[in-house]
Amino acid sequence: MGNSGILTDIGVLATCSPAGGQSELNIIRDAAIVFVDARINWVGEAADLPDAHSGLPTFSAGGRTVIPGLVDCHTHLAFGGWRADEFQMRIEGRSYLDIAASGGGIQKTMGQTRLATHESLLQHCLEYTSRSVRLGVTAIECKTGYGLSFDDELKLLRVYAELKGKTALDVASTLLAAHVVPKINPDGTKCNKQNYIKMICERLIPTVAEEGLAEFNDIFVEQGAYTTEDARLILKTGEKHGLKAKLHVDQLGDGGGGKLAAELAAISADHLEYTSPEGIRAMANADVVAVCLPFASLYLNQPPMKARAFLDAGVDVAVATDFNPGSAPSYDLPLAMMLACTMSRMTPAEALKGATLNAAKAISREQEYGSIEIGKRANFVELSVPDVNHWMYHFQPNSCVRTWIGGNRIFDSID
Ligand SMILES: [Zn+2]
Repeated sequence: MGNSGILTDIGVLATCSPAGGQSELNIIRDAAIVFVDARINWVGEAADLPDAHSGLPTFSAGGRTVIPGLVDCHTHLAFGGWRADEFQMRIEGRSYLDIAASGGGIQKTMGQTRLATHESLLQHCLEYTSRSVRLGVTAIECKTGYGLSFDDELKLLRVYAELKGKTALDVASTLLAAHVVPKINPDGTKCNKQNYIKMICERLIPTVAEEGLAEFNDIFVEQGAYTTEDARLILKTGEKHGLKAKLHVDQLGDGGGGKLAAELAAISADHLEYTSPEGIRAMANADVVAVCLPFASLYLNQPPMKARAFLDAGVDVAVATDFNPGSAPSYDLPLAMMLACTMSRMTPAEALKGATLNAAKAISREQEYGSIEIGKRANFVELSVPDVNHWMYHFQPNSCVRTWIGGNRIFDSID
């Protein structure tokens, strides 16, 4: 009976099941969860626990709050080197685009990522997935975008493919070859934008699809990166090869990203700090998940995404870290959730559903996990807090006591 058992003595169970919308956590008090063969078999009040499960090993949650395993649905996990110098430059008043124009930013990380070996990148990913799991993260989306050549983008996807077998977390891989246009090719020649896009569409996407290396295809639509026309071409090409569309849009200005995401039937549109009311309505109609990334707004000293406008329009909002060495150098998803509350005016309940069920939806995993419901994977987190509101309010370095993935205690600070 491996991966089977009962977690009982749960003070507050925030199931995060879909009913009632984003603000409704569907809480059960004095609850228990039964899991069999890594999947949830029964959920309810402990007093109603069916006798049929009495032979299973029982674990006590000690009256703690239990939530579904957190899902970080937007990271740039594999990168070489850090950019602490730019942190200071931005504080001194230089802009993101200004730093990028002077050889910093993504181009700098690209150079260091191209030099990094598969093994060193894999070790980096394993280090940060093991740190994330201690915060209650049980699934992570990982983007490429720092290789920016045929070979180097494949290198990053192969790192993620190997990571899948070596971490307990579920890993979803995203091709972000269209992050920026690289200034130089690996052979030292100058890179031409049209040739680079041609390479992505004609060689890279077909190879990635054939080898099953990614599920999603992403693009950064912004001044200094890609246009909406580029997005149509690259994302439609991906779609033809079975890669679902994601977009980085409206981060530094309104580029019509909401409407574009709706037009392309993207699974998610991320950032959205400047999206127009029209764009928000289009996203609601097309059921595109809006991913709120508070670290990027905070580190870039930009206005945050107006999450309330999306929620009021009926858009599902997810919350993620955007972990990367430039605009969001933190993997702390609970902290991003707290910032989504304070900066983007989400309630703690909305932030939690945003980092569980809606984050799972942003990576097509909402049938697999994201809520504590019968049939889903036994992924849940025990928190040493009286309830979800208190967790976000009295923010502590780490309130996660145990992280369960597929019915296994992957992190346990008690035993
Ligand atoms: Zn990003």
